Amino acid sequence: MLDLTYETPKPKVIAGAKHDWELVIGLEVHAQVATNAKLFSGASTQFGAEPNSNVAFVDAGMPGMLPVINEECVAQAVRTGLGLKADINLYSAFDRKNYFYPDLPQGYQISQLYHPIVGEGEVHVDMEPGIARTVRIERIHLEQDAGKSIHDMDPAMSFVDLNRTGVALMEIVSRPDIRGPEEAAAYVSKLRQIMRYLGTCDGNMQNGNLRADVNVSICLPGAYEKYMGTQDFSHLGTRCEIKNMNSLRFIQQAIEVEAKRQIAIVEAGGEVEQETRLYDPDKGETRSMRSKEEAHDYRYFPCPDLLPLEIEQDWVDDLASKLPELPDEKRLRFISDFGLSEYDAAVLTADTTNAAYFEQVAEGRDGKLAANWVINELFGRLKKDDDKSITQSPVTPEQLGGIIDLITSDAISGKIAKDLFEIVYTEGGDPAEIVEARGMKQVTDTGAIEAAVDEIIAANPDQVAKAKENPKLAGWFVGQVMKATGGKANPKAVNQLVAKKLNG
Ligand code: ADP
Ligand code: MG
Repeated sequence: MLDLTYETPKPKVIAGAKHDWELVIGLEVHAQVATNAKLFSGASTQFGAEPNSNVAFVDAGMPGMLPVINEECVAQAVRTGLGLKADINLYSAFDRKNYFYPDLPQGYQISQLYHPIVGEGEVHVDMEPGIARTVRIERIHLEQDAGKSIHDMDPAMSFVDLNRTGVALMEIVSRPDIRGPEEAAAYVSKLRQIMRYLGTCDGNMQNGNLRADVNVSICLPGAYEKYMGTQDFSHLGTRCEIKNMNSLRFIQQAIEVEAKRQIAIVEAGGEVEQETRLYDPDKGETRSMRSKEEAHDYRYFPCPDLLPLEIEQDWVDDLASKLPELPDEKRLRFISDFGLSEYDAAVLTADTTNAAYFEQVAEGRDGKLAANWVINELFGRLKKDDDKSITQSPVTPEQLGGIIDLITSDAISGKIAKDLFEIVYTEGGDPAEIVEARGMKQVTDTGAIEAAVDEIIAANPDQVAKAKENPKLAGWFVGQVMKATGGKANPKAVNQLVAKKLNG
């Protein structure tokens, strides 16, 4: 397999009033596990169900109810860990994180503080073709999601919807290896892409099934390299954590304004306080939610209701052997097998449906030509057509392949192929039959082309004289011949004949 070497992107630098500052960012991403049932109950995880209809007794914290681990949630966390090239811990355990909140009827969240199911891994975050950042993963643990308090339905009362209570989350904790707002967004989208390939999280940020806590600090140029050399956090600045971000755009904005806030504090001689903040997109500012002193004491302790989670290496190996091809591998394969540019390969592997469509078109054909047709013609046309997705494409891979075959066999010109594509897109049908029935075949018969060239030359003696002086004017004759033949003449043959006749 082709292996590419990547350049590390430069960190984002923000100019302060006194000197330049760099950013250091670490993310805690909460990804809802794609399963039918919750982490410790059989209740459904279906989004948008009638409030409080997907609630088992254990989710509602009824006395005497015991949690029972859902094996599929464990399998999904293991698959995610494998997809992030991470260590899988055969021994992990659940802990209680105690706090009171109306949307948490148990009075504690079951999580994995001391022994997470997944250990260290890494993600390759592509910034531009040939430029990528490796972000280390510290851990992934499984935990329960909370319910939802609703404060805006009644002036005097709050409501609670427990449908989400107890749904499995994977918390994916990165090392502070992210160096700018764009990288943070690219990191989240890469995680989302990998999990979608794996089928372990839908990654729908609007529905809240992928959200991130964003930790931001600032440092002077050179400090991060010292940290990387020693793993000593004292080289880094004090971080603030911006909670619960569920939009890539807001993540970037929040990092930007938070970094500027910290720079202003430090340059004025103050110190950044470690605290939890919220981003207000309307005001474009972050606000303190709670300081370190106000931080909860969660009184973590091992959950007495659950045995430690022990899994077998054979089971992990079996899951690993059934893992689908992942985005990086698919991209590299597209580059080496189909001769695509890094950019085209990235576009075509953005999701598995695009990739599968392309592979059907490219199989046994010129890969670059196929990529060109899928990206420029088909994606462009779908975008114009109400931003349709590839699954809604009226043109099947077989039809698009048929059009490409007609081009490569010289049956039609590239220009006619575009007309043909439009016909297939709007009316359907077999491309070869359409070309036959509508007389769209390219004229490769040099005799016929020659006659057309002779006719144009004879009718335009002035142009001929000019073209003899200035060979660039030959293009005008080519254009006339193409027009006279309704675009069906083989452009290569026309060019050759025009050149020959003008010079001869
Ligand atoms: P906690 O559980 O208290 O939030 P963690 O040690 O788990 O603390 O760290 C949370 C996140 O903060 C991690 O993603 C980590 O990479 C990030 N982080 C740690 N130090 C810094 C720093 N100086 N600047 C930015 N992010 C940091
Ligand atoms: Mg945290």
